Amino acid sequence: MRVTTRTCVYCEGNGYVQLLLGGTERCYMCGGTGQTEEEEEERDAAAVERVNFGRCCS
Ligand SMILES: [Zn+2]
Repeated sequence: MRVTTRTCVYCEGNGYVQLLLGGTERCYMCGGTGQTEEEEEERDAAAVERVNFGRCCS
């Protein structure tokens, strides 16, 4: 299974998020690395599902 590393969308690669009350907090999505790992196979399966859905009943 291929795993790709992507920029964390939650903190936009900063590794931390701005708190409403001030200050910053380490991003819980990526654990402060600014990047998340994504399993490519899962994403492809979802894409195929969408394509099949589009073909049906249109
Ligand atoms: Zn993050």
